[in-house]
Amino acid sequence: MNAEIIAVGSEMLTPDKIDTNSLYLTQELNTLGIEVVAKCIVGDDRVRLTDAIRAAWAHSELVILTGGLGPTEDDVTRDAAAAALAVAMHEDAEAWQAVLDRFKKFGRTPTENNRRQAFILDGADRLPNPNGTAPGQWFQRDGRVLVMLPGPPRELKPMVPAEIVPRLTALLPPLVIRTRWYRVSLIGESDLDALIAPIYTKYTNPATTILAAAGDIDIHLRARCATAEEAETLLAEVGDAIAQVIGDKIYSTNGDALEQVIGKLLIARGQSVAVAESITGGMLGQLITSVPGSSAYFRGGFLTYTNEMKESLLGVPTETLKSMSAVSEDAAKAMAAGARERSGADYALSTTGYADADQAGLVYVGLATPSGVHSRKLQLTGDRHRVRSMTCVNALDWLRRALA
Ligand code: ATP
Repeated sequence: MNAEIIAVGSEMLTPDKIDTNSLYLTQELNTLGIEVVAKCIVGDDRVRLTDAIRAAWAHSELVILTGGLGPTEDDVTRDAAAAALAVAMHEDAEAWQAVLDRFKKFGRTPTENNRRQAFILDGADRLPNPNGTAPGQWFQRDGRVLVMLPGPPRELKPMVPAEIVPRLTALLPPLVIRTRWYRVSLIGESDLDALIAPIYTKYTNPATTILAAAGDIDIHLRARCATAEEAETLLAEVGDAIAQVIGDKIYSTNGDALEQVIGKLLIARGQSVAVAESITGGMLGQLITSVPGSSAYFRGGFLTYTNEMKESLLGVPTETLKSMSAVSEDAAKAMAAGARERSGADYALSTTGYADADQAGLVYVGLATPSGVHSRKLQLTGDRHRVRSMTCVNALDWLRRALA
């Protein structure tokens, strides 16, 4: 269903007043899957408004008018709608009673002008307005709908969920929403977008959203269709193409974080992991143990910041630390090997590097596995926190790939 909104009121053609009703209405319509294809502001001018309504009615299935429902000569919305649609109006007894009741409540007497507010298009539903005197109207003909709502936002807003949304929902075909979710590690947002934009920009359905955090990007696909099959077909068409270009950088398709993915892989294999941390100061162990049930596969960690601790707790050879320094490929390997051996775990990760000062961002990650010990050099950018976080992401992702 396509919609057009016409905001009525000369004051919104001045520099002092803006039409906020249409923004609110657009948001509500979009949630129902209705697209607003055009909107305009028309002053309190019967002829212009009649023309605008006629044109909107010819082009759109839903036309919403806001404002111009007051009691004065300036309030032309009812008359213009009747003229544009060529329907007569009648005084609605209940609407008039509602006007009388409202005036009584405030100790006032309505004037003859107020009767105008009780005029309803023949065939329209009167929409109660609990916060004002002008009721709204819902007019439906040949599969098209024209809605009139009062201008003041405090009157209009409560009427939308109460009167409009349920009526529109009843008219709309059933809508099924299906989603896909890819979590991707270790690729920059712009690099990722360059890869997948040629695919997802061809489609408005499914809608694609990209959410980026340090070292981690979420891609959400949301398909809205009449049937689940249609939605799944669309998701498969776009999602599979995206998955193909990203490849094994996708680490989860169900929202699991990297540490959860690793946990599941280790449980499936009946294996365990330990960590030896220097630069990450416990962050890696913290991440792994943030997953409920991690005691099933996490043996423990060695937090070795000084050379002495690296030697005594992990057995890193004094020679390595002296000749290569603690931030080196050999030191990372020796830390991982020591952690694996001393904890009895199947796998061990190690981290060593500089988080700030001259060589900030130079990091080595070690991985000891049942078949060998390896280390990788990373050159990370960003502040201390980012360097340490990215070290963890790199270490966990390496383990994920080793396990997968
Ligand atoms: P009333 O019965 O109160 O006269 P009405 O339907 O005739 O309501 P208007 O007289 O057109 O509404 O507008 C009343 C007030 O509502 C305006 O002065 C303005 O402050 C506000 N208003 C009207 N239209 C809008 C709009 N599209 N966006 C935001 N505010 C609006």
